[in-house]
Amino acid sequence: MFTALAQRKINDPKGIAITFDDGPHESATPEALGALREESLTATFFFSGKSVETFPYLASLCVEEGHTVGNHGYEHVRHDRLSNEDIFRSIERTNNVVMHIAGIRPLHFRPPYGCWSRSANPILEELDMQLVLWNCMPMDFHVSTPLNIIQRFLSTHLRGGSIVALHDNEKTAGRIGLIIHMLAEILREKGWHAVALPHRVSRDA
Ligand SMILES: [Zn+2]
Repeated sequence: MFTALAQRKINDPKGIAITFDDGPHESATPEALGALREESLTATFFFSGKSVETFPYLASLCVEEGHTVGNHGYEHVRHDRLSNEDIFRSIERTNNVVMHIAGIRPLHFRPPYGCWSRSANPILEELDMQLVLWNCMPMDFHVSTPLNIIQRFLSTHLRGGSIVALHDNEKTAGRIGLIIHMLAEILREKGWHAVALPHRVSRDA
């Protein structure tokens, strides 16, 4: 049973949970998967249900390569502005799409823009899901931020047990691979390992 509190770090002093929001994206997601494969890192992808329907093969590939799929809502809208009924529908519909396409049931929800109303916590309890935020966001989606600034941010702000929030969307396409390689270099220097959040296979759901 999960806690109603938002998870911002993991209980592993040498682990880093690498997470991506907003995919699947036709070029950024394969780019991220390729870099993770080269670095032998596992990660968690918070996918939008609608994008999973558009790029089902990318959601399947993600799971085949050992990563976890989390839930980022069906559409990328602020869920704190939706009725509880619509929030439930958005999360459950996304779970069903991911289960149908990738064969796993997401256990983690990350609200778009990190905006969440605590009054909706009972929805996650009912779905037996955990709210997952982050404690390190290097703003990879700010296209004007040079890569060396992102690297400096990561080396300064990452701690053992961090959940780092990256993005596989149109803004990071073309450089998310480089950012993953930079992150991998920091992990090697510090002696940290990457941890994917757990998921549940659909036959057990
Ligand atoms: Zn997002």
